[in-house]
Amino acid sequence: MIDLHTHSSASDGTDAPARVVADAAAAGLAVVALTDHDTTAGWTEAAEAAQRHGVALVRGTEISTKAHGVSVHLLSYLQDPTHPDLVAEMDATRSDRLTRARRMVDLLAEDFPVSWDGVLAHTGPDATIGRPHIADALVSAGVVASREEAFATVLHPGTRYYVPHHAPDAVATVRAVRAAGGVPVFAHPGAVARGRVVPEETIEEMAAAGLAGLEVDHRDHDDATRARLRDLARALGLVVTGSSDYHGAGKPNRLGENTTSPESLAVIEEQGLLDVIRP
Ligand code: AMP
Ligand code: ZN
Ligand code: FE
Ligand code: FE
Repeated sequence: MIDLHTHSSASDGTDAPARVVADAAAAGLAVVALTDHDTTAGWTEAAEAAQRHGVALVRGTEISTKAHGVSVHLLSYLQDPTHPDLVAEMDATRSDRLTRARRMVDLLAEDFPVSWDGVLAHTGPDATIGRPHIADALVSAGVVASREEAFATVLHPGTRYYVPHHAPDAVATVRAVRAAGGVPVFAHPGAVARGRVVPEETIEEMAAAGLAGLEVDHRDHDDATRARLRDLARALGLVVTGSSDYHGAGKPNRLGENTTSPESLAVIEEQGLLDVIRP
């Protein structure tokens, strides 16, 4: 089993990178990718754990981008983590995520017993901060019962508490990932429950810029969406991937609940600058 999309406490997962890798091995995965939001900070710890637990590791990142105002999550695999353009883009996003989280907490604090310290209590040092950390503070304060409930209510983009954050253009980021030797894959492109999704023309533009694949098998896609995206991937010559988008205890997603074929992984590894770390 190959699961190419997971999060640790380096971003908004609840478990440390080594723990995610250990749990991946225990779940019977042969290969796991660590893809924290807008950071590569978990890579070193995850690589060490992969050797120790006998599971192969794909080093990756889920980059927050935008296309025509719609949020696009772009997975980057096996890129040079020091490439200046990509590092600068992710630094800018992480910095604005901090400003944005503080604004959201200020707005929420007008109506609910939440504080910035309460949010920081749930955020790892240097972690890429996001709404899930604010959700945890809301749970601790007794405002909601779970991250899920927080996202369905006060953290939803339709509420007055929602503030967007900076994100670079999706097509430009596809090019930046390729320039860094990475392999760009569009994460959950048809996840309508999260908000607006991009039209096929945007996926075509991204493909023309060097997109390598579409994450088709993801819990946020129903069967019809998966079939449509599989057809589109075939038409555009893109690889198809699948994943759990695991966030530890922060989401119901289970490791290995959707998987990627060995053939797709072989294409990704062939195109990537870095090697898959094999025990
Ligand atoms: P942000 O990037 O700060 O806008 O927050 C988006 C993050 O929240 C993504 O990583 C999602 O995986 C996570 N997320 C979205 N919906 C939910 C939900 N219903 N429950 C828990 N986490 C969620
Ligand atoms: Zn996340
Ligand atoms: Fe995502
Ligand atoms: Fe994700």
